[in-house]
Amino acid sequence: MPHEFRVSTHRRCEMIDITTSVRRAIAELGLSEGALVVFVPHTTAGVTIQENADPDVVHDFLMELAKIVPFEDGYRHAEGNSAAHLKTSLVGSSVHLLVERGEPLLGTWQGVYLCEFDGPRTRKVWVKAVGSGVV
Ligand code: ZN
Repeated sequence: MPHEFRVSTHRRCEMIDITTSVRRAIAELGLSEGALVVFVPHTTAGVTIQENADPDVVHDFLMELAKIVPFEDGYRHAEGNSAAHLKTSLVGSSVHLLVERGEPLLGTWQGVYLCEFDGPRTRKVWVKAVGSGVV
């Protein structure tokens, strides 16, 4: 099984910075050099990498995504959360990270974000090391 951590979300649509949890997972996995897959096993929440310095960036991201995929648009899916399913496919369910000396190689302004589109809920995040350097 992959390493797992959980994230509680608080709104219907929200982006939560999970970089600290990913760093902790790398330490717990004992990964020093290699690569990491961060995977979100849900159909109404995804994961992406985005700027973590200015919170207006994720605000604008969610605002524009809501224009591309309106909450109501004559969808057929009876559960009423088609917009969440569509947004999840747009952002994707996984990201890859490179790891050196036990640290993820991220750009200065990059953070890893869980993207909630049908909250509030508790979401799972799976982390699996790939490649060399796994102790
Ligand atoms: Zn659904």
